[in-house]
Amino acid sequence: MPETMSAAENYRDIVTELDAHAKKHEQETPQLIVVSKTFDANTIQPVIDAGARVFGENRVQEAQAKWPELKAKTAEIELHLIGPLQSNKTADAVALFDCIQTVDREKIAKAIAREMKSQEKQLKLFVQVNTGSEPQKAGVLPETATDFVRWCQDELGLSIEGLMCIPPFHENPGPHFALLRKLARESGLTKLSMGMSADYLTATEFGASHVRVGSSIFGKR
Ligand SMILES: *Cc1c(COP(=O)(O)O)cnc(C)c1O
Repeated sequence: MPETMSAAENYRDIVTELDAHAKKHEQETPQLIVVSKTFDANTIQPVIDAGARVFGENRVQEAQAKWPELKAKTAEIELHLIGPLQSNKTADAVALFDCIQTVDREKIAKAIAREMKSQEKQLKLFVQVNTGSEPQKAGVLPETATDFVRWCQDELGLSIEGLMCIPPFHENPGPHFALLRKLARESGLTKLSMGMSADYLTATEFGASHVRVGSSIFGKR
């Protein structure tokens, strides 16, 4: 993408591209989540003005510094937490975000359930799966994903929308997207958050319901 193009133009182009690519591959058009981490409110606002309503941030504290004001200006903003959540930030995360995509262990699932109850707020929830079983990466292991989803549903009464993954950086993402889709089907879930700047078209071909795109919209971080 040429450097001279604005984030708003990039956003509009990707929306059009996703729609065309999904049609070509007979898939539903995924929801584009605009990943705005590291960019400030003045950089984000033109993308909101261009029509974007769904955004992703990976740190609670960083999001708290810019999103309350941006949300106050535009009613229908939907904010997704796409980075790991520490349990001491759960109350803040539940207060600010509309969706948490990184539910990945019993402790954090319990904390989210408790906070949603006390704040009387329902968030959309995704379980993050570590499809590459990478030691340093967050997410439940693929072989435990189905049991973990059922535990969240049965023991905590959580309504889980779908699964999320970040494939290993140096691997072909296709098999990881296929694995996430298979695991979601086994759990009876329909939503798949997968695909970033490098591979959002591939993810679309594998049936992503949500793609998370940052640098292809805002440029290098
Ligand atoms: C930063 C981030 C993205 C966006 O990455 P780009 O390659 O800039 O599109 C997507 N998902 C997660 C979980 C991220 O942390």
